Amino acid sequence: MMNDIPCIACALTGGSCCLNRQIVLTLGDVQRINVCVGQHDFFTIEKPEPWYLDPFYDPAWLPLVLNPEGLFRVLKRNSDKSCGMLTKTGCVLPFESRPLVCQLHPYMYTETEIIGIDDTCPISKEKDGLTILDKLNMPMEKAIGWQHLLYNELHTERNEKTLFNNSDQAGKRT
Ligand code: SF4
Ligand code: SF4
Repeated sequence: MMNDIPCIACALTGGSCCLNRQIVLTLGDVQRINVCVGQHDFFTIEKPEPWYLDPFYDPAWLPLVLNPEGLFRVLKRNSDKSCGMLTKTGCVLPFESRPLVCQLHPYMYTETEIIGIDDTCPISKEKDGLTILDKLNMPMEKAIGWQHLLYNELHTERNEKTLFNNSDQAGKRT
């Protein structure tokens, strides 16, 4: 049976959704994190790893986040590929300052709907997965709000043609 707090159960087994991921940042994410950590040097512009290029359930995602050179803005990672914001006690960021893709995880979504719970997350295996997410203060209504904000920020950046402007200053290609 899963630990009452599933994310702790995940961490105890050496897994977490904060490892081995490329976490896409909107400009809004960058601003919110900057306010929180007081510096800019937390992101980079890099190529997606091969696994990221599989469109899986949403072929519209990659065209929204990749620039014409096939690069995107992501959180920096440590040498072990853990997220640069991950500490021994979990994410250093308060929930509302985390990247929107993190706030939404483990919901799976497209621009128009929430389509389920990511099957790489143990919560998806529970019969009452949505109730667990409610208890974690991540109810569907909130997820829909994050989903809307995420796509609004992605579209705004794309429309303003800032997505591909690596005047993202502190972000450094690796
Ligand atoms: S959200 Fe899911 S995959 Fe991520 S740490 Fe929690 S239980 Fe594990
Ligand atoms: S920002 Fe926080 S929640 Fe998101 S991957 Fe990094 S450590 Fe995990």
